[in-house]
Amino acid sequence: MVLQVQTTEMAQKLQEAINGHDQLKDICGARKPKERIPHIMVYDIEKCGEGVTREEEEQSFLEKVKKSNLLPEGEMKVLFRKKGSGNREHWVISMEPVLFKQIKGEKRIQFGFGSFRFREFLEPMKCFRCHKFGHGRKTCVVDKDLCSKCPGMHSFRECKSTAPVCRNCREFNRKSTNKVRVDHTATSEHCPIFLREKEQIKLKTNYGD
Ligand SMILES: [Zn+2]
Ligand SMILES: [Zn+2]
Ligand SMILES: [Zn+2]
Repeated sequence: MVLQVQTTEMAQKLQEAINGHDQLKDICGARKPKERIPHIMVYDIEKCGEGVTREEEEQSFLEKVKKSNLLPEGEMKVLFRKKGSGNREHWVISMEPVLFKQIKGEKRIQFGFGSFRFREFLEPMKCFRCHKFGHGRKTCVVDKDLCSKCPGMHSFRECKSTAPVCRNCREFNRKSTNKVRVDHTATSEHCPIFLREKEQIKLKTNYGD
């Protein structure tokens, strides 16, 4: 369970109260949430041939990246891979802030005599069933795919609406006096709710400064 409070002092007090409580301290504990370190997505990495394990492939890739970009000591890890076109994949890599600092202004990451295109990865968790943020398809409470083009209770394949209306932004407008634009699909990269989620991830990330 994540509790959000306004100041670090309040968090500290709450933590002490829970961890020092006679009955609570045996059944639960309080700690600061794990900090997120920077992630990047590296585009169009060719899949290796046979005879190399996934771990070996990732290890040698990361070592070459470190060397080619003169990165300082620090941890770097491939979190997952996304399918690209043909034999290519896009890799999402987490790295300690000191390493990220070294490359953050660049558009390409050096790799031996070549290079790869990359960008910072700030993609919020999103449900492809109901299009809400913060959970995935497996834990979704809705029992069928909802439309990404309009707020209707049908799949986008059956959608008859001619202009897009974002279901997330429409729901937001219902509850808020600050209105946002709704004339986009729920999967749009320009959706204000999506951009706000991205901003939240940025705020939670430790950039080391
Ligand atoms: Zn969902
Ligand atoms: Zn629809
Ligand atoms: Zn939207």
